[in-house]
Amino acid sequence: MKTQSWLAAGVFAAVAAASPLATSPAKAQGALVMYCGVQEEWCRAMSTAFEKETGIKVAMTRKSAGEIYAQLKAESANPRGDIWWGGTGDPHLQAAEEGLTQEYESPANKDLNDWAISQWKAAKQRSIGIYAGALGFGFNTQQIKSKGIAEPKCWADLLDPKLKDDVQVADPNSSGTAYNLLATMVQLMGEDKAFGYLKALHKNINQYTKSGAAPAKATSLGETAVGIVFIHDAVVFAVQGDPIKPVAPCEGTGYEIGSMSIVKGARNLDNAKKFYDWALTPAAQGLAGPAKSYQVPSNKNAPVPPQSPKMSEMKLIDYDFVKYGSSAERTRLLAKWDREVKALPK
Ligand code: PLP
Repeated sequence: MKTQSWLAAGVFAAVAAASPLATSPAKAQGALVMYCGVQEEWCRAMSTAFEKETGIKVAMTRKSAGEIYAQLKAESANPRGDIWWGGTGDPHLQAAEEGLTQEYESPANKDLNDWAISQWKAAKQRSIGIYAGALGFGFNTQQIKSKGIAEPKCWADLLDPKLKDDVQVADPNSSGTAYNLLATMVQLMGEDKAFGYLKALHKNINQYTKSGAAPAKATSLGETAVGIVFIHDAVVFAVQGDPIKPVAPCEGTGYEIGSMSIVKGARNLDNAKKFYDWALTPAAQGLAGPAKSYQVPSNKNAPVPPQSPKMSEMKLIDYDFVKYGSSAERTRLLAKWDREVKALPK
């Protein structure tokens, strides 16, 4: 397994504080339809701040990444969205390949980390990296203690029969997080072993949720002992004192490059470009931390929230975004997972 050297290169060191947003609202400047792929609180913070700064009225809908991709496809003959902001990079890449999004080069590109530009190049300029985050899981410390098992540290630990019906993860068809898990396992173990692992894990799954971050909340509330999520999603609850411990699995893990794309045929194209440029600024990216979103921002000058998991200290795979974001591979893996994992009796 190769590890990612760029993560160790100090990319994630804390950097200077963001410059403040403009305070006076501009005059009304039209509308923007935004499909938002992160947590509701961060989506709202972004749309409100952009409205305030530009006077452009934002109609925002929050959905999971796979759902936004499916919506763009369904609306492609008559596009209704302008900008897709957030969500894992794989479905953004699939949308790019299928011509559902369009090319754009922002003047802000020069200020971005290499991994954000890699996403832009992989998407043939149709998508750009806005944040990064590593995959892992969180466990409920009280639940694990009451089961009398050791604290889970590895993916393999989640197969313990004592965790029957006590592990939760999203459905990879709707959730970018869960597709990231599927693609991570295939890259970490090889395809046969990965599907063997996911079939064995199925016995312990209590629910495949629609949204990727939902299992973090369920774990923090003790509704499930383990939730497989992006590590930063478990950190949200740990920092507020809930009995949840975030884990970077011992075998190694994958990561996401959360992305942004402009919808092909956007009715409010100029406003979409304005949002795109603004969303790449340190000030806009600095809205993440206060909205309890602890991803690593793509602008080198944006503040890294102190709560952000230290990706440079994790064993990360060299995730092949081009392959696993391709239309053929994502479609094939999802169909195989539906057939060979989800359809299995418990
Ligand atoms: N929430 C956060 C904080 C994320 O970083 C991401 C991934 O980009 C998601 C949610 C993705 O959500 P879903 O798995 O529901 O597509």
